[in-house]
Amino acid sequence: MIYNRILVRYGDLTLKGKNEKVFVQKVIGLAKEKLSGIPCNISYTHDRMYIDLVEDNADLIISRLNRVSGLASYSLVVRVDTEDDLSQAKKAACELIKEKIKKPTLFKVESKRAEKKFHLTSQEITKEISSYVLKNCDNLKVDVHNPESTLHIEVRPTDTYIYLDSIKGMGGYPVGVAGKGLLMLSGGIDSPVAGYLTMKQGIQIECLHFESTPLTSIESSQKVIDLVKKMAVYAPGSRIKVHFVPFKEIHMALLENVPESYTITIMRRMMYRIATEVCKRRDIYCIINGESVGQVASQTLGSMRTINSVTNMPIIRPLATYDKLDIIKISRMIDCFDISTKPFEDCCTVYVPKAPATNPKEDKCEAYEKSFDYEKMIKDTVDNINTISITADSDLDISMLGLEVRDVLKELKQNK
Ligand code: ATP
Ligand code: MG
Repeated sequence: MIYNRILVRYGDLTLKGKNEKVFVQKVIGLAKEKLSGIPCNISYTHDRMYIDLVEDNADLIISRLNRVSGLASYSLVVRVDTEDDLSQAKKAACELIKEKIKKPTLFKVESKRAEKKFHLTSQEITKEISSYVLKNCDNLKVDVHNPESTLHIEVRPTDTYIYLDSIKGMGGYPVGVAGKGLLMLSGGIDSPVAGYLTMKQGIQIECLHFESTPLTSIESSQKVIDLVKKMAVYAPGSRIKVHFVPFKEIHMALLENVPESYTITIMRRMMYRIATEVCKRRDIYCIINGESVGQVASQTLGSMRTINSVTNMPIIRPLATYDKLDIIKISRMIDCFDISTKPFEDCCTVYVPKAPATNPKEDKCEAYEKSFDYEKMIKDTVDNINTISITADSDLDISMLGLEVRDVLKELKQNK
């Protein structure tokens, strides 16, 4: 292995002024956690993290860094000592080029001098290095405007780095730095993607899932668990709390009392009311969901306004403007797609009305809601929520138990 270090950049954390320290501590803590157990040596400064390679495990380290929000990019580098004549840097540059560039390539050198006291300017470093490598390596043809490959040289006070590529990181902010949000998580494609995107933006999530077993299958709750395991690799401690809401009673009440075209609207108003109550009880600052404008009847702007009016919590909809194809791309990237597309009904897909209202009216909702004592039902439901904490490596398999999901969850909770 030619590389001896990974240079990790924090991205726009450095723009955070006085909060910079907090951000850096968080991102370092998260990275250390995701790399724990992997042989390597980590050090850091206010603008960089350095991972010294002690084994041939760079691919594994990079796959773990891809789980750390707040990292902009990383480069596999050859580190040498900074010397006035750049002799080690020149030699290392040649070795790197010989190993990585095997066919004729348009090429340029780009240098940076972080050590302003260094006796050569950036341009002079570029000149020195490029004339050396052009003389000593094959396959290179200079093209400073459209290079296929760029050799980077970075001269710091004691270390000089030589590298070819940068790998894009997750970006965003370290998860947790922006506080906590409650993700409404169904078993579908959209909500786990919404969860991933909010974590990437620094929000730590807890999940809220409405389950209506036995109206809906126990497998749909297993899907939720499996999705949370996938999302948990990005979370602090690789762990996410899930609140399972026993929704059957409310679900039944509205199927019995509400005209068919309004069942979805009112079901979603109930979901928002419950989510709001959970946020209040748990001191959570926002609700997150996978809604995307126009995707289904309950996601027209008219529906959103009527549904949204039951809460004054901020609602974050990371996918509001996304195309389904772009959502699917992310879903595959976070390894959720195959789970999300397993064919089990949840409470939004079972008993779907033939003609749901696409522009439901608030006064009608209020009138229909008077037909059952939903306030008491909501309180009872929230009181009976089952919360479990799911880790990325959990082997929880409730579908094997063949009970109503709420019994299983109660038992799990008691055993904790
Ligand atoms: P998804 O693909 O995430 O299932 P969807 O396309 O099925 O979403 P809807 O059923 O209209 O869309 O739901 C919109 C959003 O409402 C979901 O993305 C999710 O955030 C939330 N939601 C729907 N059903 C549930 C549920 N059973 N529990 C928790 N949240 C839910
Ligand atoms: Mg959707």
